[in-house]
Amino acid sequence: MAYQQSGGGFRPRTNNGGGRSGGQRSGGSRPSGVGGRPSFNRGRGGGSRGPVKKYINPSKFINQATPKAEEVPYVSTHKFIDFPFGGQLQHNIAKKGYIDPSSIQDQAIPFIVEGKDVIGIANTGTGKTAAFLLPIIERQTGVSLRPSVLIIAPTRELAQQIDEQFREFGQGLGLYSTLVVGGMPAERQIRELKRRPHFIIGTPGRLKDLMNRRYINLENVNTLVLDEADRMLDMGFLPDIRAIVTETPSDRQTLLFSATITPEITAIINNFSKNPVTISVRTSETNEHIEQDVIEARDKAHKVELLTEMLQDRAKYDKVLVFGETKFGVQRLSDHLDNSGISSIAIHGNKNQSQRARALKQFKDGRIRVMVATDVAARGLDIPNVSHVINFDTPQTYDDYIHRIGRTGRGGASGHAHTFIDSRR
Ligand code: AMP
Repeated sequence: MAYQQSGGGFRPRTNNGGGRSGGQRSGGSRPSGVGGRPSFNRGRGGGSRGPVKKYINPSKFINQATPKAEEVPYVSTHKFIDFPFGGQLQHNIAKKGYIDPSSIQDQAIPFIVEGKDVIGIANTGTGKTAAFLLPIIERQTGVSLRPSVLIIAPTRELAQQIDEQFREFGQGLGLYSTLVVGGMPAERQIRELKRRPHFIIGTPGRLKDLMNRRYINLENVNTLVLDEADRMLDMGFLPDIRAIVTETPSDRQTLLFSATITPEITAIINNFSKNPVTISVRTSETNEHIEQDVIEARDKAHKVELLTEMLQDRAKYDKVLVFGETKFGVQRLSDHLDNSGISSIAIHGNKNQSQRARALKQFKDGRIRVMVATDVAARGLDIPNVSHVINFDTPQTYDDYIHRIGRTGRGGASGHAHTFIDSRR
Protein backbone atom coordinates (compact mmCIF):
# COMPACT_ATOMS: atom_id res chain seq x y z
CA MET A 1 0.00 0.00 0.00
CA ALA A 2 1.48 3.32 -1.00
CA TYR A 3 0.98 6.45 0.92
CA GLN A 4 0.36 9.80 -0.63
CA GLN A 5 -0.54 13.23 0.46
CA SER A 6 -3.17 14.95 -1.59
CA GLY A 7 -4.96 18.22 -1.16
CA GLY A 8 -3.65 18.72 2.31
CA GLY A 9 -4.80 15.27 3.29
CA PHE A 10 -3.15 11.92 3.67
CA ARG A 11 -4.89 9.22 1.77
CA PRO A 12 -3.65 5.70 1.70
CA ARG A 13 -3.91 4.16 -1.73
CA THR A 14 -5.39 0.76 -1.19
CA ASN A 15 -5.81 -2.01 -3.67
CA ASN A 16 -9.51 -2.14 -3.04
CA GLY A 17 -9.86 1.44 -4.15
CA GLY A 18 -9.93 3.09 -0.79
CA GLY A 19 -13.37 2.31 0.48
CA ARG A 20 -13.49 2.52 4.21
CA SER A 21 -9.78 2.77 4.63
CA GLY A 22 -8.65 5.15 7.28
CA GLY A 23 -5.61 7.28 7.22
CA GLN A 24 -7.62 10.22 6.10
CA ARG A 25 -6.24 13.46 7.18
CA SER A 26 -8.12 16.68 7.02
CA GLY A 27 -6.50 19.87 5.93
CA GLY A 28 -8.86 22.56 7.11
CA SER A 29 -9.47 24.09 10.44
CA ARG A 30 -11.79 21.27 11.36
CA PRO A 31 -11.63 17.64 10.38
CA SER A 32 -14.61 16.20 8.59
CA GLY A 33 -16.89 14.32 10.86
CA VAL A 34 -15.01 15.21 13.99
CA GLY A 35 -17.23 16.47 16.71
CA GLY A 36 -18.68 13.83 18.92
CA ARG A 37 -16.74 12.09 21.59
CA PRO A 38 -14.27 9.97 19.67
CA SER A 39 -13.86 6.37 20.56
CA PHE A 40 -10.17 6.59 21.40
CA ASN A 41 -11.36 7.39 24.86
CA ARG A 42 -13.31 4.23 25.09
CA GLY A 43 -12.01 0.95 26.37
CA ARG A 44 -10.15 2.41 29.31
CA GLY A 45 -12.93 1.64 31.71
CA GLY A 46 -12.05 0.33 35.09
CA GLY A 47 -9.35 2.92 35.50
CA SER A 48 -6.82 0.41 36.67
CA ARG A 49 -4.14 1.72 34.33
CA GLY A 50 -3.42 5.13 35.74
CA PRO A 51 -5.38 8.33 35.35
CA VAL A 52 -8.24 8.41 32.88
CA LYS A 53 -7.53 10.54 29.85
CA LYS A 54 -9.12 13.92 29.66
CA TYR A 55 -11.31 14.36 26.64
CA ILE A 56 -9.69 16.49 23.96
CA ASN A 57 -11.76 17.47 20.98
CA PRO A 58 -9.80 16.28 17.92
CA SER A 59 -10.33 19.65 16.27
CA LYS A 60 -7.70 20.89 18.70
CA PHE A 61 -5.18 18.65 16.96
CA ILE A 62 -5.58 20.59 13.75
CA ASN A 63 -3.88 23.81 12.80
CA GLN A 64 -2.67 25.34 9.60
CA ALA A 65 0.74 26.69 10.32
CA THR A 66 1.33 30.37 10.14
CA PRO A 67 4.77 31.02 8.74
CA LYS A 68 7.39 31.80 11.30
CA ALA A 69 8.63 34.69 9.21
CA GLU A 70 5.72 36.75 10.51
CA GLU A 71 7.01 36.50 14.03
CA VAL A 72 8.76 39.51 15.40
CA PRO A 73 12.11 38.33 16.70
CA TYR A 74 12.97 39.28 20.23
CA VAL A 75 15.35 42.20 20.35
CA SER A 76 17.54 41.80 23.39
CA THR A 77 18.41 44.85 25.41
CA HIS A 78 21.76 43.39 26.42
CA LYS A 79 24.63 41.62 24.75
CA PHE A 80 26.35 38.88 26.75
CA ILE A 81 29.35 41.16 27.14
CA ASP A 82 27.11 43.67 28.98
CA PHE A 83 26.52 41.20 31.81
CA PRO A 84 28.87 41.47 34.78
CA PHE A 85 30.54 38.14 34.14
CA GLY A 86 34.23 37.41 34.61
CA GLY A 87 36.59 36.98 31.66
CA GLN A 88 36.67 33.18 31.74
CA LEU A 89 32.88 32.89 31.80
CA GLN A 90 32.60 35.41 28.94
CA HIS A 91 35.16 33.34 27.07
CA ASN A 92 33.12 30.16 27.62
CA ILE A 93 29.93 31.85 26.42
CA ALA A 94 31.65 33.09 23.28
CA LYS A 95 33.12 29.63 22.72
CA LYS A 96 29.58 28.20 22.72
CA GLY A 97 28.76 30.67 19.96
CA TYR A 98 26.21 32.65 21.94
CA ILE A 99 26.06 36.30 20.90
CA ASP A 100 22.65 37.66 21.76
CA PRO A 101 20.83 36.60 24.89
CA SER A 102 17.43 35.00 24.40
CA SER A 103 14.41 36.75 25.90
CA ILE A 104 14.49 34.84 29.19
CA GLN A 105 18.26 35.32 29.47
CA ASP A 106 18.03 39.00 28.67
CA GLN A 107 15.38 39.60 31.28
CA ALA A 108 16.30 37.16 34.04
CA ILE A 109 20.09 37.36 34.22
CA PRO A 110 20.28 40.92 35.68
CA PHE A 111 17.94 39.92 38.56
CA ILE A 112 19.66 36.62 39.24
CA VAL A 113 23.05 38.33 39.30
CA GLU A 114 21.64 40.70 41.92
CA GLY A 115 20.63 37.72 44.06
CA LYS A 116 16.87 38.09 43.64
CA ASP A 117 14.46 35.18 43.54
CA VAL A 118 13.15 34.70 40.01
CA ILE A 119 10.19 32.82 38.61
CA GLY A 120 10.66 32.05 34.91
CA ILE A 121 7.61 31.08 32.94
CA ALA A 122 9.44 29.45 30.09
CA ASN A 123 9.42 26.19 28.26
CA THR A 124 12.26 24.11 26.85
CA GLY A 125 13.91 25.74 23.88
CA THR A 126 13.84 29.26 25.27
CA GLY A 127 17.38 29.12 26.61
CA LYS A 128 16.22 28.91 30.22
CA THR A 129 19.11 26.65 31.21
CA ALA A 130 21.75 29.25 30.42
CA ALA A 131 19.48 31.92 31.92
CA PHE A 132 20.00 30.39 35.35
CA LEU A 133 23.37 28.68 34.94
CA LEU A 134 25.37 31.71 33.81
CA PRO A 135 24.54 34.09 36.69
CA ILE A 136 24.77 31.26 39.21
CA ILE A 137 28.21 30.27 37.95
CA GLU A 138 29.29 33.89 38.23
CA ARG A 139 28.02 34.12 41.80
CA GLN A 140 29.63 30.87 42.91
CA THR A 141 33.16 31.70 41.86
CA GLY A 142 35.20 31.86 45.05
CA VAL A 143 32.50 30.37 47.31
CA SER A 144 34.15 27.94 49.71
CA LEU A 145 31.24 26.36 51.62
CA ARG A 146 29.92 23.52 49.52
CA PRO A 147 27.70 22.16 48.00
CA SER A 148 26.36 25.64 47.39
CA VAL A 149 23.99 25.09 44.47
CA LEU A 150 21.19 22.56 44.18
CA ILE A 151 19.38 22.13 40.88
CA ILE A 152 16.36 19.83 40.79
CA ALA A 153 14.87 18.67 37.48
CA PRO A 154 12.10 16.18 36.68
CA THR A 155 14.02 13.71 34.52
CA ARG A 156 17.45 12.17 34.30
CA GLU A 157 17.90 13.44 30.78
CA LEU A 158 17.10 17.01 31.69
CA ALA A 159 19.43 16.85 34.69
CA GLN A 160 22.12 15.47 32.42
CA GLN A 161 21.61 18.23 29.86
CA ILE A 162 21.89 20.85 32.60
CA ASP A 163 25.07 19.20 33.83
CA GLU A 164 26.53 19.16 30.31
CA GLN A 165 25.84 22.88 29.91
CA PHE A 166 27.28 23.51 33.37
CA ARG A 167 30.50 21.78 32.37
CA GLU A 168 30.81 23.86 29.22
CA PHE A 169 30.06 27.19 30.88
CA GLY A 170 32.04 26.38 33.99
CA GLN A 171 35.23 25.36 32.20
CA GLY A 172 38.41 26.72 33.79
CA LEU A 173 36.57 28.18 36.77
CA GLY A 174 37.39 25.47 39.28
CA LEU A 175 33.73 24.60 39.84
CA TYR A 176 32.59 20.98 40.07
CA SER A 177 29.25 19.25 39.85
CA THR A 178 27.75 15.88 40.68
CA LEU A 179 24.83 14.43 38.80
CA VAL A 180 22.50 12.69 41.25
CA VAL A 181 19.91 10.76 39.23
CA GLY A 182 18.24 7.40 39.35
CA GLY A 183 18.71 4.61 36.82
CA MET A 184 22.41 4.24 37.49
CA PRO A 185 24.39 2.92 40.42
CA ALA A 186 24.61 5.29 43.37
CA GLU A 187 28.20 4.36 44.29
CA ARG A 188 29.89 6.71 41.88
CA GLN A 189 27.55 9.54 42.84
CA ILE A 190 28.31 8.92 46.50
CA ARG A 191 32.05 8.95 45.78
CA GLU A 192 31.73 12.25 43.96
CA LEU A 193 29.53 13.74 46.67
CA LYS A 194 32.20 12.99 49.25
CA ARG A 195 34.50 15.36 47.36
CA ARG A 196 32.00 18.17 48.02
CA PRO A 197 31.09 19.49 44.58
CA HIS A 198 29.84 23.07 44.24
CA PHE A 199 26.79 22.02 42.25
CA ILE A 200 24.45 19.10 42.81
CA ILE A 201 22.19 18.53 39.83
CA GLY A 202 19.60 15.81 40.20
CA THR A 203 16.15 14.31 40.15
CA PRO A 204 13.97 14.30 43.28
CA GLY A 205 13.88 10.57 44.01
CA ARG A 206 17.62 9.90 44.08
CA LEU A 207 18.36 13.23 45.74
CA LYS A 208 16.02 12.39 48.58
CA ASP A 209 17.38 8.87 48.83
CA LEU A 210 20.99 10.03 49.17
CA MET A 211 19.92 12.83 51.50
CA ASN A 212 18.18 10.33 53.77
CA ARG A 213 21.30 8.18 53.68
CA ARG A 214 23.27 11.26 54.77
CA TYR A 215 25.44 11.48 51.69
CA ILE A 216 23.99 14.87 50.85
CA ASN A 217 24.16 17.75 53.27
CA LEU A 218 22.33 20.83 52.10
CA GLU A 219 23.17 23.25 54.91
CA ASN A 220 25.51 25.33 52.73
CA VAL A 221 23.18 25.68 49.78
CA ASN A 222 22.85 29.33 48.82
CA THR A 223 21.03 28.81 45.51
CA LEU A 224 18.17 26.46 44.69
CA VAL A 225 16.82 25.90 41.19
CA LEU A 226 13.57 24.05 40.50
CA ASP A 227 13.49 23.40 36.77
CA GLU A 228 10.26 22.39 35.02
CA ALA A 229 8.41 22.66 38.30
CA ASP A 230 5.06 21.92 36.68
CA ARG A 231 6.37 18.63 35.31
CA MET A 232 7.78 17.67 38.67
CA LEU A 233 4.39 18.19 40.26
CA ASP A 234 2.68 16.21 37.47
CA MET A 235 5.04 13.38 38.17
CA GLY A 236 4.16 13.36 41.87
CA PHE A 237 7.47 14.68 43.16
CA LEU A 238 6.05 17.34 45.46
CA PRO A 239 6.57 15.41 48.73
CA ASP A 240 10.19 14.64 47.78
CA ILE A 241 10.80 18.24 46.75
CA ARG A 242 9.39 19.53 50.02
CA ALA A 243 11.56 17.16 51.99
CA ILE A 244 14.65 18.28 50.07
CA VAL A 245 13.96 22.01 50.15
CA THR A 246 13.30 21.91 53.89
CA GLU A 247 16.93 20.89 54.36
CA THR A 248 18.25 24.02 52.62
CA PRO A 249 18.80 27.33 54.44
CA SER A 250 15.83 29.66 54.25
CA ASP A 251 17.96 32.64 53.19
CA ARG A 252 18.92 30.94 49.94
CA GLN A 253 18.19 32.38 46.50
CA THR A 254 15.41 30.45 44.76
CA LEU A 255 14.86 30.23 41.01
CA LEU A 256 11.83 28.38 39.72
CA PHE A 257 11.10 27.59 36.10
CA SER A 258 7.80 26.30 34.84
CA ALA A 259 6.07 26.22 31.46
CA THR A 260 2.71 26.80 33.07
CA ILE A 261 1.37 28.50 36.16
CA THR A 262 -1.24 26.46 37.96
CA PRO A 263 -2.62 27.02 41.47
CA GLU A 264 -0.25 24.29 42.69
CA ILE A 265 2.72 26.10 41.19
CA THR A 266 1.60 29.35 42.75
CA ALA A 267 1.45 27.60 46.12
CA ILE A 268 5.00 26.33 45.65
CA ILE A 269 6.19 29.78 44.64
CA ASN A 270 4.63 31.33 47.74
CA ASN A 271 6.10 28.61 49.86
CA PHE A 272 9.63 28.45 48.52
CA SER A 273 10.50 31.95 47.29
CA LYS A 274 10.69 35.47 48.68
CA ASN A 275 9.41 38.50 46.73
CA PRO A 276 10.25 36.89 43.43
CA VAL A 277 10.49 38.70 40.14
CA THR A 278 8.37 36.92 37.53
CA ILE A 279 9.48 36.79 33.93
CA SER A 280 7.27 35.21 31.34
CA VAL A 281 8.50 34.38 27.89
CA ARG A 282 6.00 31.72 27.10
CA THR A 283 3.69 32.78 24.33
CA SER A 284 0.35 31.11 23.92
CA GLU A 285 0.89 30.75 20.18
CA THR A 286 4.07 28.69 20.41
CA ASN A 287 2.36 26.01 18.35
CA GLU A 288 1.00 28.37 15.69
CA HIS A 289 3.86 27.68 13.33
CA ILE A 290 3.39 23.93 13.62
CA GLU A 291 1.31 22.28 10.95
CA GLN A 292 -1.01 19.99 12.89
CA ASP A 293 -3.40 17.39 11.63
CA VAL A 294 -5.12 14.17 12.49
CA ILE A 295 -4.88 10.78 10.86
CA GLU A 296 -7.83 8.49 11.24
CA ALA A 297 -7.24 4.83 11.88
CA ARG A 298 -9.54 1.95 12.70
CA ASP A 299 -7.47 0.26 15.37
CA LYS A 300 -3.97 -0.24 16.62
CA ALA A 301 -2.93 -2.56 13.82
CA HIS A 302 -4.14 0.00 11.31
CA LYS A 303 -2.20 2.74 13.08
CA VAL A 304 0.96 0.66 12.91
CA GLU A 305 0.36 -0.03 9.23
CA LEU A 306 -0.19 3.65 8.39
CA LEU A 307 2.73 4.83 10.47
CA THR A 308 5.09 2.31 8.92
CA GLU A 309 4.00 3.42 5.51
CA MET A 310 4.42 7.12 6.23
CA LEU A 311 7.86 6.62 7.65
CA GLN A 312 9.03 4.87 4.49
CA ASP A 313 9.31 8.37 3.04
CA ARG A 314 12.79 9.06 4.31
CA ALA A 315 13.22 12.43 2.68
CA LYS A 316 10.12 13.84 4.29
CA TYR A 317 10.14 12.14 7.66
CA ASP A 318 13.77 12.66 8.41
CA LYS A 319 13.72 13.09 12.19
CA VAL A 320 10.59 11.84 13.82
CA LEU A 321 9.52 11.69 17.42
CA VAL A 322 6.63 9.27 18.00
CA PHE A 323 4.73 9.36 21.27
CA GLY A 324 3.15 6.29 22.79
CA GLU A 325 1.34 5.71 26.05
CA THR A 326 3.01 2.76 27.72
CA LYS A 327 6.60 1.65 28.10
CA PHE A 328 5.74 -1.73 26.66
CA GLY A 329 3.80 -0.30 23.71
CA VAL A 330 6.59 2.14 22.92
CA GLN A 331 9.19 -0.61 22.89
CA ARG A 332 7.05 -2.87 20.73
CA LEU A 333 6.30 -0.14 18.22
CA SER A 334 9.94 0.84 17.97
CA ASP A 335 10.99 -2.80 17.48
CA HIS A 336 8.36 -3.21 14.78
CA LEU A 337 9.57 -0.12 12.91
CA ASP A 338 13.17 -1.16 13.23
CA ASN A 339 12.37 -4.63 11.92
CA SER A 340 10.58 -2.99 9.00
CA GLY A 341 13.78 -1.24 7.96
CA ILE A 342 13.01 2.11 9.59
CA SER A 343 15.82 2.87 12.02
CA SER A 344 14.08 3.42 15.33
CA ILE A 345 14.90 3.48 18.99
CA ALA A 346 12.67 3.54 22.06
CA ILE A 347 13.09 5.72 25.11
CA HIS A 348 11.10 4.97 28.24
CA GLY A 349 11.41 4.44 31.95
CA ASN A 350 12.27 0.74 31.72
CA LYS A 351 15.59 1.59 30.12
CA ASN A 352 18.48 2.39 32.34
CA GLN A 353 20.22 5.72 32.23
CA SER A 354 23.04 4.77 29.90
CA GLN A 355 20.63 3.10 27.46
CA ARG A 356 18.48 6.22 27.45
CA ALA A 357 21.47 8.50 26.98
CA ARG A 358 22.74 6.36 24.12
CA ALA A 359 19.32 6.32 22.43
CA LEU A 360 19.05 10.07 22.74
CA LYS A 361 22.51 10.64 21.31
CA GLN A 362 21.91 8.38 18.33
CA PHE A 363 18.69 10.19 17.56
CA LYS A 364 20.20 13.63 18.07
CA ASP A 365 23.16 12.79 15.83
CA GLY A 366 20.83 11.58 13.09
CA ARG A 367 22.11 8.00 13.15
CA ILE A 368 18.59 6.87 14.00
CA ARG A 369 15.66 8.47 12.23
CA VAL A 370 12.80 7.66 14.58
CA MET A 371 12.56 7.83 18.33
CA VAL A 372 9.51 6.35 20.03
CA ALA A 373 8.97 7.78 23.50
CA THR A 374 6.67 7.95 26.47
CA ASP A 375 5.79 11.43 27.71
CA VAL A 376 7.81 11.05 30.85
CA ALA A 377 10.96 9.93 29.04
CA ALA A 378 10.72 12.79 26.54
CA ARG A 379 10.13 15.55 29.06
CA GLY A 380 12.52 18.43 28.89
CA LEU A 381 14.68 16.91 26.17
CA ASP A 382 16.37 19.37 23.89
CA ILE A 383 16.40 17.69 20.50
CA PRO A 384 17.05 20.04 17.61
CA ASN A 385 15.44 19.77 14.17
CA VAL A 386 12.65 17.27 14.79
CA SER A 387 10.77 17.27 11.48
CA HIS A 388 7.64 15.52 12.75
CA VAL A 389 5.98 14.72 16.03
CA ILE A 390 3.54 11.85 15.70
CA ASN A 391 1.07 11.10 18.44
CA PHE A 392 0.60 7.39 17.98
CA ASP A 393 -1.47 7.42 21.15
CA THR A 394 -3.36 10.57 22.03
CA PRO A 395 -1.97 12.49 25.01
CA GLN A 396 -3.59 12.48 28.44
CA THR A 397 -4.22 16.20 28.45
CA TYR A 398 -4.12 19.10 26.02
CA ASP A 399 -1.20 20.48 27.94
CA ASP A 400 0.71 17.26 27.26
CA TYR A 401 -0.21 17.68 23.61
CA ILE A 402 1.28 21.17 23.49
CA HIS A 403 4.35 19.89 25.27
CA ARG A 404 4.77 17.02 22.83
CA ILE A 405 4.39 19.03 19.66
CA GLY A 406 6.70 21.72 20.98
CA ARG A 407 9.55 19.36 20.04
CA THR A 408 9.15 20.23 16.41
CA GLY A 409 9.32 23.60 14.69
CA ARG A 410 12.01 24.97 16.92
CA GLY A 411 14.29 27.84 16.21
CA GLY A 412 12.87 29.02 12.90
CA ALA A 413 12.26 25.58 11.38
CA SER A 414 8.74 24.67 10.39
CA GLY A 415 7.26 21.73 12.22
CA HIS A 416 4.62 19.09 11.67
CA ALA A 417 2.48 17.21 14.14
CA HIS A 418 0.19 14.31 13.32
CA THR A 419 -2.22 12.77 15.79
CA PHE A 420 -3.85 9.42 15.27
CA ILE A 421 -7.52 9.37 16.13
CA ASP A 422 -10.08 6.61 16.00
CA SER A 423 -12.14 6.48 12.82
CA ARG A 424 -14.78 4.15 14.29
CA ARG A 425 -17.34 6.65 15.37
P1 AMP B 1 17.07 25.40 26.76
O1 AMP B 1 15.76 26.12 26.62
O2 AMP B 1 17.85 25.90 27.93
O3 AMP B 1 16.87 23.92 26.77
O4 AMP B 1 17.99 25.76 25.48
C1 AMP B 1 17.62 25.42 24.19
C2 AMP B 1 18.79 25.43 23.22
O5 AMP B 1 19.16 26.77 22.88
C3 AMP B 1 20.06 24.79 23.75
O6 AMP B 1 20.59 23.94 22.74
C4 AMP B 1 21.01 25.93 24.02
O7 AMP B 1 22.36 25.56 23.85
C5 AMP B 1 20.58 26.96 22.98
N1 AMP B 1 20.77 28.35 23.44
C6 AMP B 1 20.41 28.85 24.63
N2 AMP B 1 20.69 30.16 24.72
C7 AMP B 1 21.24 30.52 23.54
C8 AMP B 1 21.74 31.75 23.01
N3 AMP B 1 21.71 32.90 23.71
N4 AMP B 1 22.24 31.76 21.75
C9 AMP B 1 22.26 30.61 21.05
N5 AMP B 1 21.80 29.41 21.47
C10 AMP B 1 21.29 29.35 22.71
